[in-house]
This record gives sequence, C-alpha cells and structure tokens, in this order.
Amino acid sequence: MKKHKYCGGCLCGNIRFIATGETNNPHACSCTMCQRHTGALTSCWVEFPKEAVQWNGSGGIPSLFRSSGYSSRAFCQQCGSSLGAIDDGPTIGLLLGSFDRKGQKELRPVSHSYKSLCPRWWSIDVQS
Ligand SMILES: [Zn+2]
Ligand SMILES: [Zn+2]
Repeated sequence: MKKHKYCGGCLCGNIRFIATGETNNPHACSCTMCQRHTGALTSCWVEFPKEAVQWNGSGGIPSLFRSSGYSSRAFCQQCGSSLGAIDDGPTIGLLLGSFDRKGQKELRPVSHSYKSLCPRWWSIDVQS
C-alpha cells in the first residue's frame, strides 16, 4: 500500500503538521461549532490517528480550546488560524483548508453533517 503523506499549517507558518498513512472519515461539517471555530459556513475535515500526526513547525503543538466533553479545537496562538480538533480519544481531525495540497481524491468529503444549518443558497458537492 502506498504511504501517503500530507503537510500543512497555519496562516503564519508557526504551526506545521505532517500527517502520514490512511485518511479516515473525510467529511464536511456545517455545525454551529465548526462555523464559529473557522468562520466558514462549511468545514472539510479529515481524520487521522493521533500518532500519525506530527507537529513540526517552530510553534510546536497548537493552542487548544476545550469545545466539548471529548474534544478540543486547535488553533495557532500567533495568527489565530483554525487547524483542527484534537480529541481526548485517539483521533485528530485536521481541517482540509490548512493542507498544502487539497486535491487528492481520498480527501474529498463523503458526507456532509449539519447541512441543514447552511443557507439554502450554499451547497457543496460530496462524493456519494
Ligand atoms: Zn499561525
Ligand atoms: Zn462540525
């Protein structure tokens, strides 16, 4: 199996990541929490096991905001960019917008959570 590697980071470059291996659950989400966290109507997420994500920028690990009983939102303390969510469990969700390259087919969302919270004029094309 081909070993995939995904690099990305925040707007200022202080926080950088390398995620390797299998992508899990690529999905779009339009819940109120994601909207507030990112400022975007819809966020695209890709999940990795915690051990598959290395934080390799000069800022190290992103700052965290506890957003629910099981997860914290990750952001750059310097530029404020949203980067993802670090669960208390073994999963890290990364926001696709922070990836250097976003076009690989395995990153395409397969579902759209909380679609009904979007304005009617907004739509995204998920794989089905
Ligand atoms: Zn930054
Ligand atoms: Zn959400």
